[in-house]
Amino acid sequence: MNKKAVVMLSGGLDSTLAAKLMLEQGVELCGLYLSAPWGCCDKTKAMKVAAQLGIEFMVVKMTQEYIGVIRKPKYGYGSSMNPCIDCRIYMFEKAKELMAQIGAAFLVTGEVLGQRPMSQMRHSLFLIEKQAGLARRIVRPLSAKVLPATLPEEEGVIDRERMCGITGRSRKEQMQLALKYGILDYPNPAGGCLLTDQEFGNRVRDLFQTQEEVDLEDMELLRLGRQFRLNPHTKLIVGRNEEENRTLAEYLAPGRVLFVPEGFPGPSVLLIGPPDEAADRRALKMIAHYTKKEKLPPQAKVIRRVGVPRQEGQQPLEETILLEGHIEEKELEATRI
Ligand code: SF4
Repeated sequence: MNKKAVVMLSGGLDSTLAAKLMLEQGVELCGLYLSAPWGCCDKTKAMKVAAQLGIEFMVVKMTQEYIGVIRKPKYGYGSSMNPCIDCRIYMFEKAKELMAQIGAAFLVTGEVLGQRPMSQMRHSLFLIEKQAGLARRIVRPLSAKVLPATLPEEEGVIDRERMCGITGRSRKEQMQLALKYGILDYPNPAGGCLLTDQEFGNRVRDLFQTQEEVDLEDMELLRLGRQFRLNPHTKLIVGRNEEENRTLAEYLAPGRVLFVPEGFPGPSVLLIGPPDEAADRRALKMIAHYTKKEKLPPQAKVIRRVGVPRQEGQQPLEETILLEGHIEEKELEATRI
């Protein structure tokens, strides 16, 4: 067995420490960052970590296939829409592909035994590595001493005694190790995966319940704005700030309509669904509701843009309409997702 490995880098402290412990033993590492369509971990941070460690860095994008994993997880969900066991299997399969490409003998992760309820319990760790086809080839340097010996340890490629035996959710030992290595700038672990977030989870659930075909763009859109489900075919996304208003405009496409305040500061609204006058009226009410009263001019107008196919280079169909209508908070909350 050679001394080359892929290390999963999230940009967080645990994976950085795991990489450090392996570099100390002379392992040649290639950092792998798996990029989710809704941008969970911090790619820039992961890239920076790889540069600081002086190792190669690869980004692999999660594909359409990953949506299938979230939609129908064999091992179920955690506290929200996070199918951690299936997700880890998928990630390790991707890592395995990279290992084959670059001729790496094993995989290194920053996992800590017992740190996460679903995917980092003893039985889950073994189930996941077996299902991913990497049984005994995943080294977890932070918990190695409390886990059975892996193949690289057995074959003397790495020394078990020079790794750690950390367990559980306390991060005290990792922080001490960080001090030892002079790592002072690391993100708070609370950031985490959006699929574990209840609000985001509700949006994912709503999408899966109302749409048969779901693509990466549908998933990306779940991150944006305030979202409201009007009926099984129609959803409204209301921008919460200028940046979101600009981003919503980038998602204008056939089957979507964008409403933009004309000449006053208010939210843009993206309507996703078939032509529907009631939904149009609701979009206008949303703009009025989320615009500061003092900023709303008399006879305020809104530009209504209908999405057209991007590849044909056509301009969206546009008209200006009068902003009118009012919506009660209660009515609004009843449709919020
Ligand atoms: S927390 Fe999110 S990214 Fe991590 S394993 Fe679970 S679903 Fe996957």
